[in-house]
Amino acid sequence: MHEMSLAEGVLQLVEETARREGAGRVLRVVLEIGRLSSVEPEALKFCFDAVTRGSIAGEAAVEFIDVPGSGGCLDCGRTVALEAVYGPCPECGSYRVQASTGTEMRVREIEIE
Ligand SMILES: [Zn+2]
Repeated sequence: MHEMSLAEGVLQLVEETARREGAGRVLRVVLEIGRLSSVEPEALKFCFDAVTRGSIAGEAAVEFIDVPGSGGCLDCGRTVALEAVYGPCPECGSYRVQASTGTEMRVREIEIE
């Protein structure tokens, strides 16, 4: 389950930010999850709750922002919506589509006090 290592990475970033800002606790963490990233928000939330227990982010609320996938088709040159990383181009049916957005998970916002 790669969500566990992702959750640990997020916690590390959150802890570094909190320390740098001299925060007492973390209220909210907003994560962007790309539809092509193969990250399961429910699984990630479960792992995040597990790794943050007892930490500065132990009480933090986790929110997810869904980022749709898109890419550039190498055959027709269009920018198209993608439902899967190796999905076909909806315009010309080509499988030579390079995913450009929605492929990753990242931390958008950390709210501390
Ligand atoms: Zn195309």
